[in-house]
Parts: sequence; structure tokens; C-alpha cells
Amino acid sequence: MQNIISSQMIMGFTEIVIASTNIGKISEIKELLSFHTKDEVQVLSLKDYKIKEPDEPFQTFQANAIHKAKYYAQKTGKVCLAEDSGLCVNALDFFPGVRSKEFIEESGGILQAMRLLEEKLINQDSLSAFFQSAIAIHFPNSEEFVTEEAKDYGTLNFPARGIYGFGFDRIFIPDGYDLTFGEMGVSKKNKISHRAKALEAIIQKLSSLQN
Ligand code: IMP
Repeated sequence: MQNIISSQMIMGFTEIVIASTNIGKISEIKELLSFHTKDEVQVLSLKDYKIKEPDEPFQTFQANAIHKAKYYAQKTGKVCLAEDSGLCVNALDFFPGVRSKEFIEESGGILQAMRLLEEKLINQDSLSAFFQSAIAIHFPNSEEFVTEEAKDYGTLNFPARGIYGFGFDRIFIPDGYDLTFGEMGVSKKNKISHRAKALEAIIQKLSSLQN
């Protein structure tokens, strides 16, 4: 039985905004939230707002997620759910980690970023890596927020495989599977991913806080 987000769990509000501009993340979070909401709470996106994207100035996923959720809650006046995530490669001291987005931009796009990672790992024995996701829900006109994070461990695989997903999905095989996230598609990924686990945990926390 899934935990359902009630308006009571979100301080009496009846709307929650997925505060992200990343299309891949939005589609995953949208599907995940659909399992955890009924008509009482509406899930909105940022598409009707013209809001400049915030910086991600902090060194941890959690601090950036809280920062983004707070920023959007202030701008929209609604409960906002933000997420910060990245790929951490063990042999590279967890690079690119919290700087994943920056690394992709500086590389000139995701294809070049994946090629650069492959080059950096050429003489490494281990291709172990994990995705980390921090989710924060911030309430408007308030300092109140909740946050949780989770990881998904696996192995990098070159060349990239699959047609689904976003970012590094096509080079990441989660432990216990033979397929990359890029071969699985959203619904399968959503059963096991770092983002799904972080969302489960935050809903659990909201539920326990109201009791
Ligand atoms: P940010 O969370 O907006 O800082 O973006 C981090 C970047 O890491 C994303 O733009 C993706 O390229 C990558 N990333 C984060 N989560 C995932 C994931 O679940 N799959 C693949 N790549 C991801």
C-alpha cells in the first residue's frame, strides 16, 4: 500500500509544485507522485511560471535541494518539491557528484561528458558508481521544510546503451540488473532508482511528522 500525500501532511495546502526544469526528472517525479496523490492534492509544474533558474551554490545535494525548494516556494507562494542529484564515480573520488550538471555543461553536452568519463576511467579496474538524489519540500511564507536523500549503486558501462531516460542513464547499470537505466525506461527505473527511494522516504517522513 502506497503512502498518500494528504493536504494535512503538507500544512493544509492542496497543491504541490514539481520545482524543476529538467524534463527527464519532471517525468520521473510526475509518475512517482501520481502513485502518492489523490484528488485532494494537485501536482503542478513550473510551466505556468516565468521564474529564473536558481544557482546551485552548495557542496551537498541536500543543501542544493533545500535551496532550490525554498527559492521556488518563495517565488510561487506554493509548496515546492525540488531535487538535486548526480552521478558519483568511486574511482574518481565521487566525481562529478554534486557538480554533475556543471560537468556536462563544461564538457559541451552529455555525449562529450560520457566520453570524458570513459577516458578518465580507461586505466581503472573498477567502474563502480552510484547516483545520489536529495529531495526537499519547502513550504511558502515559512522556514519549514523536509528533506531526504537516497543512493542507487551500480556499474558504469561503455559504450552507452538504450534510448530512454536522461543524463547518464545510458551508461549506468544498477546492481542486480543487466540493463542500463537507458534500456529500462521510466517505469522500471522508478521501481528502483535513487529518486524513487528519496521520494518514498520523504513521504514517509511527512506522514510520521503529522502523527
Ligand atoms: P541537477 O540535479 O539539476 O544539479 O542535475 C544533475 C545532473 O546529473 C542532471 O542534469 C543529469 O545529467 C545527472 N543526473 C541526475 N540524476 C540522474 C539520473 O537519474 N539519471 C541520469 N543522470 C542523472
